[in-house]
Amino acid sequence: MVQRVFSTQLESILYSVNQYSENVVHQWRQSLDQPVAPDGDVEKGLVNNLFQNNRSVLAIRFLDLASHQVEAEYFNNNKAIHIDEWPSTAEIQKLQDYLKSNYQRVDTKMMTDSTLMLYFLSKNREGEHVCQLVINPRTFVLQTMSPQIQQIAQNLFFISISDSTSGSVVYSTEDNTELTGKVEKEKMWYIPGYELGIRLKAKTLEELASERTQRDNYMLIGLTIVVLLGLYFVIWNIRKEMKLAELKSEFVSNVSHEIRTPLALISMYAETLLLKRVKTEAKQEEYLHTIHQESGRLTDIVNRILNFSRLEKNRLKYQFSVINLGELVPEIMTSMKSHLEAAQVECRFSSQVDQALVYADSDVVKTMLVNLVDNAIKYSAEKDKKIGIRLVKKTKSVWVEVEDNGIGISPKNQKHVFEQFFRVTEGNLAHKAKGSGLGLNLVKRMMKAHGGSVALRSKLGEGSTFILKFPVKKQNHA
Ligand code: ADP
Repeated sequence: MVQRVFSTQLESILYSVNQYSENVVHQWRQSLDQPVAPDGDVEKGLVNNLFQNNRSVLAIRFLDLASHQVEAEYFNNNKAIHIDEWPSTAEIQKLQDYLKSNYQRVDTKMMTDSTLMLYFLSKNREGEHVCQLVINPRTFVLQTMSPQIQQIAQNLFFISISDSTSGSVVYSTEDNTELTGKVEKEKMWYIPGYELGIRLKAKTLEELASERTQRDNYMLIGLTIVVLLGLYFVIWNIRKEMKLAELKSEFVSNVSHEIRTPLALISMYAETLLLKRVKTEAKQEEYLHTIHQESGRLTDIVNRILNFSRLEKNRLKYQFSVINLGELVPEIMTSMKSHLEAAQVECRFSSQVDQALVYADSDVVKTMLVNLVDNAIKYSAEKDKKIGIRLVKKTKSVWVEVEDNGIGISPKNQKHVFEQFFRVTEGNLAHKAKGSGLGLNLVKRMMKAHGGSVALRSKLGEGSTFILKFPVKKQNHA
């Protein structure tokens, strides 16, 4: 099937070569068949013009059929040749029949090996006169046809013209050699015995087909990979969205839960105080203290959510300045003193240096540290809670490490704890502790805004160390 289509294509290329020769011949016919006097100056001019432009035309004769006379005879370059060919009655009849149907046919016949006669009836002289052109077929091919053949062949095909009687190659786009391989052949319309041949350059049809198949296969593989990747991406996105939706709904229930407890305590103690049911002053003070502490917790929760929402909308404005972490960290710890005492935590601060200058927002540093310390308290067993806060100076950064001896985090969960809304659900304490799953994500984003990062070292059941890494070179911004 492919072979057939391909052959048809090659045939149509050869057809176009033949068509070109027909155009040339009919142009000659048109230029010679003019309403001019036989053997007159105008006719001589026409003939000479044709001779000049076509070396292959050796002679032109005009014959009067009625008187059987040669009306005029012209030779290219005045090189006289002997012509005694006269179209037969049958041949003339054939041309006349065509002329009646309004088609001025040009017929052809070989005279000798090197001369060919083209003849047609003159329309202007009512088909009673014949015009004969004697041409050299070899020169016709080499001079008139070859440029057109070159153009048709381009770099894709080899085209040749050979003399089928002698078997010799007259012309070939490939160094005048005979074409080998799968060659398509066609007779030349105007040169009896001459044959056109064509074949694809460089490759056979099989090679082309296999190359094409290979290319198609590669494209198919490429497309399949793209589609699979796209599919993977879509599924991955859907799963991510589903996970996020799940986490968000957990977040709502966690936060509601977290808010409900302090609200219930505040409302209960406030009501008791209002109804003056508390007898002793010490008890009153204890209730008021609880109300104060719980409203503080509420504020913390709301602040965390607000911070998160601001970060989400990129609306959190940082007030960067050069600060000395060697001073700021102990200050923050002092501000948390009562909180730490209430939680019965032993908290120690140690530092290798007095001064550790970084370019940071002190309020945000406090938010982060409070978050980490709060987590250290939340995720440690009831007894012997120990928190160590260390300031470590590295060559290019200053680290604030918050270490606890709490429940620790499994390697699997360590990968996720900084994701928004993520909370560890396995383990008794982790499950019971209230939270929103926002704290560590906030810390991560805030550290990024500081040009730093947060890291985690943890062992399940032994404790965790969160490390805030501030770049030291940022102090140059001051
Ligand atoms: P949450 O509001 O739940 O505490 P965070 O973002 O602060 O949210 O923490 C995410 C999760 O990481 C917590 O739910 C907890 O399981 C785990 N986690 C955080 N800090 C610690 C810690 N110091 N020890 C053990 N687990 C921790």
